[in-house]
Amino acid sequence: MDEVTQDQAPKGTPMTEGYCSWHNRIAKDVERIQLSEAGSGGRVHYACPPCIGVFKLTPYSGQ
Ligand SMILES: [Zn+2]
Repeated sequence: MDEVTQDQAPKGTPMTEGYCSWHNRIAKDVERIQLSEAGSGGRVHYACPPCIGVFKLTPYSGQ
């Protein structure tokens, strides 16, 4: 039990898997999207990187 070949979990690369509200599928590396209250209906939405690009979304950055 001394094998050190397990380096399949590199640190520094968090896997944030979540539901993309734009293509309606689970996706990796989703980001929380900033929407106006009117546009989001008061809910939090997440989008995957491709959808962020296609729909020109703005990732949430506020505190
Ligand atoms: Zn998407």
